[in-house]
Amino acid sequence: MSIPWNWDAMPKTPEEGEAKAREWALLATSKRCRVHRIPMKFYSSRTHCRFRCPKRGCNVEISEGIGSFFEECRLKMHIAIGLMYCFTGDWSYKDARHELRSRSDEAGSAELSPGTIAAWYLIFLHLFIHTEFIIVTI
Ligand SMILES: [Zn+2]
Repeated sequence: MSIPWNWDAMPKTPEEGEAKAREWALLATSKRCRVHRIPMKFYSSRTHCRFRCPKRGCNVEISEGIGSFFEECRLKMHIAIGLMYCFTGDWSYKDARHELRSRSDEAGSAELSPGTIAAWYLIFLHLFIHTEFIIVTI
């Protein structure tokens, strides 16, 4: 079964964004405790998704975004993924801003400035050039 790849299929909430990012392997699905070298347990709440060592007394926690493309991302995941979609569709900043505004779960949370959109488009451009470079050199 093929998955439709269109704007309607993009995540609409932060929770959907994080779930899709995990599904598409943009976020880690497992981590190991660096102290005990055992698999960590995944915990999610409305505000944080983290891996925590299950060993009693161990306080090692790792955010699910650490080590991923989204490590330094301050945007909610559904907005970042939406921006990626807008970039690949060559959408104008105005169109991206307009469409992402409608995906906001909080007043003003998806109000992206043209500067933010430009910065993310540049990141995606570098990412895709770098990816293309790797594909070409293999
Ligand atoms: Zn541990």
